[in-house]
Amino acid sequence: MNTDESRKFIPGIVPPRGRSGPAWWFVLQESKLLVNQAPPFVSVPFLVDLGALELAPLCEHYLGQLDNCDCYAVEVVAETIPPAGMTFEGLRQVYGRLDENLFWIAARAVQIIDWDRTHRFCGRCGVELKMKTTERAKECPRCGLLHFPRLAPAIIVLVEQGNELLLARSRHFLPGMYSVLAGFVEPGESLEEAVVREVKEEVGVDIKDIQYFGSQPWPFPHSLMIGFTATYAGGEFSLDDSEIEEAGWFTVDNLPRIPGKISIARKLIDWFIDKQRGHLNF
Ligand SMILES: [Zn+2]
Repeated sequence: MNTDESRKFIPGIVPPRGRSGPAWWFVLQESKLLVNQAPPFVSVPFLVDLGALELAPLCEHYLGQLDNCDCYAVEVVAETIPPAGMTFEGLRQVYGRLDENLFWIAARAVQIIDWDRTHRFCGRCGVELKMKTTERAKECPRCGLLHFPRLAPAIIVLVEQGNELLLARSRHFLPGMYSVLAGFVEPGESLEEAVVREVKEEVGVDIKDIQYFGSQPWPFPHSLMIGFTATYAGGEFSLDDSEIEEAGWFTVDNLPRIPGKISIARKLIDWFIDKQRGHLNF
């Protein structure tokens, strides 16, 4: 749902031997991406050899191919000064200015680099881990424990009632911003159970007719958002004060400030708006 279908990204682990053509380089300084400035847009370096930029990568991970061109994630030290005409920018800042396919590969790069940086030693026996060459994993040379990139599944749900949708304000949101409800899936729980529990915990109401909507990687820092729609089934608002500041029912004509286009939250809300506008036209 995030990418232009005419451009194909094929994930890979094993880098090609003897590459001669240019590759896409996703150069990260902590979680910031090196971009070429071409106002109002940005791009990422497309070069045969990253050495042309005189950068000294700490590590390199092969990501796969976009339209037959190889893609790499590399990390550089925090003090690295960007080459002329380039800057390091956060992923959120480049959304909408970087080609959408490149953006989602960058999101992958951020998560893989973050995993590599934060999973150096075995959690069971403390020995330094070795990168596997055949899959995206690290292995403990002593006890054999495998460590995969960390991914935290979270549900996100749009609850509707007639021509209204439920929106709530988290304490962490920007002033005036409302969104649909979301929360992390707990061990032992199905996605549908997580949807029911989160809505009940956060705002106190019951829901029914849970339908899968779509999913989206959310690399802030390593979530996978799984979207659903549901219908209000009863109960009064009773807010979890530690999380939710305010919740209410809104029609498409009185929407508050809502999240930007990057998020699946916005895709859910836009879906509801389109549906309502369609209904109004009948
Ligand atoms: Zn171990």
